[in-house]
Amino acid sequence: MNCPVCNQPLIILELNRIEVDYCTNCHGIWLDEGELELLLQNSDEKNKLFNSFLIDNKSKEKSVKCPICFKKMDKIICGDKNKVTIDKCRRQHGLWFNKGELISVIEMGSLDKHDKIIKLLREMFSYNLS
Ligand SMILES: [Zn+2]
Ligand SMILES: [Zn+2]
Repeated sequence: MNCPVCNQPLIILELNRIEVDYCTNCHGIWLDEGELELLLQNSDEKNKLFNSFLIDNKSKEKSVKCPICFKKMDKIICGDKNKVTIDKCRRQHGLWFNKGELISVIEMGSLDKHDKIIKLLREMFSYNLS
C-alpha cells in the first residue's frame, strides 16, 4: 500500500499490538476501519470523540484518495474544542491522519493523557524528526 499523499510505500508499525501503516516520508498514518476504536480505551472521552465526527463538505484542505479503493475521501472534523480534520474513506476502508493528527485525536479521545499509545506515538515522531 502506498501513501495517499506522497505515493511512497507505507511501512507497518505495531502500536500496542495493532498494526498501522506509516509513511516515513510525510509521517502520515493509515488506520484500517475499526483500528482507532481499538487504540482508545473505553471512556466518556472516547464516546465524545466518536460522536463529534462531522463531515466537512466545504473543506479547503487538499483532498486525499483512499490507499485501498483510490476514491476521494471525506474530510471529517473531530473534536469539540481543538478540532482536527482527518480523511475518511466513504467505503469504510479506514482513516488517514496527516503528521501529528493521530496524537491529537487520541489525546482528545483519552481520559489518561499519559496513555501508553500517546507515549509510543510521541517517541516515534520525535525519533523520526531527529
Ligand atoms: Zn507520505
Ligand atoms: Zn477506500
